[in-house]
Amino acid sequence: AKATGGGVFSNYHPRMREGLVDRLELESDLRAALENGDLRLHYQPTVDLATSQVIGFEALVRWPHPTRGMINPLDFIPIAEATGLIVPLGQWVLHEACRQAVEWGVAGDGYPPKMSVNVSVRQFDRADLSEMVARVLAETGMPADRLCLEMTESVLMTDTEANLEQLLRLKALGLTLAIDDFGTGYSSLAYLRRFPVDTLKIDRSFVERLGVIADDTALTDTIVRLGKSLGMATVAEGIEEFGQLAALREMGCGFAQGYYFSRPVPAAEAGRLFLEGANV
Ligand code: C2E
Ligand code: CA
Ligand code: CA
Ligand code: CA
Repeated sequence: AKATGGGVFSNYHPRMREGLVDRLELESDLRAALENGDLRLHYQPTVDLATSQVIGFEALVRWPHPTRGMINPLDFIPIAEATGLIVPLGQWVLHEACRQAVEWGVAGDGYPPKMSVNVSVRQFDRADLSEMVARVLAETGMPADRLCLEMTESVLMTDTEANLEQLLRLKALGLTLAIDDFGTGYSSLAYLRRFPVDTLKIDRSFVERLGVIADDTALTDTIVRLGKSLGMATVAEGIEEFGQLAALREMGCGFAQGYYFSRPVPAAEAGRLFLEGANV
């Protein structure tokens, strides 16, 4: 299967009937994988740009499929969202990420790393999201202030009032909230001020063209300043080259993730990075 770019399997044929069969088969396979505990999490370090220290991780779900090989989340998260499976899947991801962070904390100085978990807009449709999160925190012993939930701008732009209340309930638990892929959606500045958001994650598409396309460099700089003026942290996604890192440091961006530091790695490797206090 292709490593990046959604919707493409190595054995995919662009005919409708096969597409549908594929989809139905994937849906039942995904349901089974979830029930059998076959899904895995990989963890990508978040680095403090001031100290180069690993301060936490983003949990990213992985599906090792028995016959298709590793399936890209961009290929199965949409299926999970369309079928509602994203609700139990999202709960499993949150539980496993928190459990793992607490385990690393116990093995270290007692304090878990900061853990970021992606929450689909479909999970916000559920009025009981904050109760689910509270339950997982209690079950795993994860301190709320170590957890960050990542959501896309669409959460701010759809069902605005209900989602605002939901976000306030989540904030009341003591966790932090991040806007993922920031800059690719349509959130207005007024919304940003109104919602209890702590962190902006600058989308990879801007970082990719840093120093190459002047407009993107200016936009990235603007997002970093915007974050600062609103009292929000800024995390740059998808850093692959030293030049991008240098430019972001210069702008005063606080944190970063990307292949330059580390790809998302299995739990054992991420645990070593954390426990060694790695400067990656
Ligand atoms: P995302 O939340 O924007 O996650 C970042 C994606 O960029 C990850 O892809 C990561 O592997 C990739 N990435 C990180 N650094 C670099 C880099 O330097 N260069 C490049 N080219 N890519 C980089 P991944 O793991 O394939 O996940 C894709 C998307 O699937 C995620 O995008 C997220 O939207 C979704 N996803 C993954 N896990 C979950 C989950 O547990 N729940 C939900 N709802 N969505 C998830
Ligand atoms: Ca994310
Ligand atoms: Ca992102
Ligand atoms: Ca993205």
